[in-house]
Amino acid sequence: MKFYIYTLGCKVNTYESNIMRDNLLNSGYIEGSIDNSDIYIINTCTVTNTSDNKSLKVIRRVLREHPEAITIAVGCMVQVNSELLKDLGVSIVLGNKDKSKIVDYIKQYKINKRNITDIVDIMGVEFEDMCLNNFNKARAFVKIEDGCENYCSYCIIPYARGKVRSKVPHKVIEEITTLVNQGHREIVLTGIHTGHYNYKDCSFYDLLKEIVKIDGLKRLRISSIEITEITDDIMNLFKISEVLVDHIHIPLQSGSNKILKLMNRKYDKEYFIERINKLRSVRPDISITTDVIVGFPGETEELFNETIDTIKKINFSKIHVFPFSLRKGTKAEELPNHIDGTTKKRRVKELINLSKELEIDYMNKFIDKEMSFLPEIYKDGYLIGHTGNYLQIKVKGDIQLLNEIVEVEMERIDYPYIVGKLI
Ligand code: SF4
Repeated sequence: MKFYIYTLGCKVNTYESNIMRDNLLNSGYIEGSIDNSDIYIINTCTVTNTSDNKSLKVIRRVLREHPEAITIAVGCMVQVNSELLKDLGVSIVLGNKDKSKIVDYIKQYKINKRNITDIVDIMGVEFEDMCLNNFNKARAFVKIEDGCENYCSYCIIPYARGKVRSKVPHKVIEEITTLVNQGHREIVLTGIHTGHYNYKDCSFYDLLKEIVKIDGLKRLRISSIEITEITDDIMNLFKISEVLVDHIHIPLQSGSNKILKLMNRKYDKEYFIERINKLRSVRPDISITTDVIVGFPGETEELFNETIDTIKKINFSKIHVFPFSLRKGTKAEELPNHIDGTTKKRRVKELINLSKELEIDYMNKFIDKEMSFLPEIYKDGYLIGHTGNYLQIKVKGDIQLLNEIVEVEMERIDYPYIVGKLI
């Protein structure tokens, strides 16, 4: 039987989709196309209302276009909003537990010919043991942690993913070693709240310091980390290890202390700036990217301008901008002074423009320099990929160089790329 997996949302979902793919392939299923498969798995996302709608749209489309297929809905949207699927006729409905047992669920469905719904209370769930042997992209993601207990007032994810739980350290090392031996040059550590990794007496720092020693691992990237989790030990590791890339993604969310408090974030802008300065003292050219939510309830023009001011002080190299989107069941739902759509759109535009300016400034620093990059895609005679500091590079080159770290001379900006030539 042929299967096709739709993945919505974050890197953790991408990792878990790869686990399901691996399990299906190992059990004799064949990867099919979007038009012609017998089993469709939709790995859903619920981070915003739009993500819910997108997930639902895909499920409906699959049911309409492939009425004979086995349809499986899994993931965050299903975990917190399964009533949206009621009466749609989805064959198997799973939340965020047991994605790794997808083959067993399919077998059970084929024997009983009855729809299955299995959504457990995610708060009591242990870390689900999953291990990848290969990944379908050059940069391989490895999930080391699940869950979040921060309860930011705008976020539904703690209810979709449950409590913080971590993978056994030696299993992380084994998984990364296998992936490196399979030819992956870069590993991206992922989790719902990656920096909260903690297994018994092994902290996130303890784990990082073992991972960077893995033979053959050229690059280690942390998908995202909170500013409060970049300890002095981790900064020191950035100082001494060349394997940790020159890029870090730290969500700011707002540059106004008043809004940060309403968001239930655990830092203020002064702390954020102080820690970034410390990080830059050990890695002066590090690329620091971030997420910012605009139009949070109570965000006056003055507070929005405070955010712009903070962003300029920090000098990020890129900002992912999100308009505040109300989620049912979150604290933010009860807050007064919601911002109208037109104001939100204007502020989003302003920040996107600022992000592009900062990005181009950062890119300009590297023109005429020699850097190494990892070609991830081959398109129209060009190799496309990223440098360690996450610049997108495009060079004319041979397909055989895919997935190999190569040296490039950085020539000019062709936004969003830097065009260069191989050395
Ligand atoms: S840290 Fe905050 S924003 Fe991130 S998943 Fe947890 S609650 Fe959501």
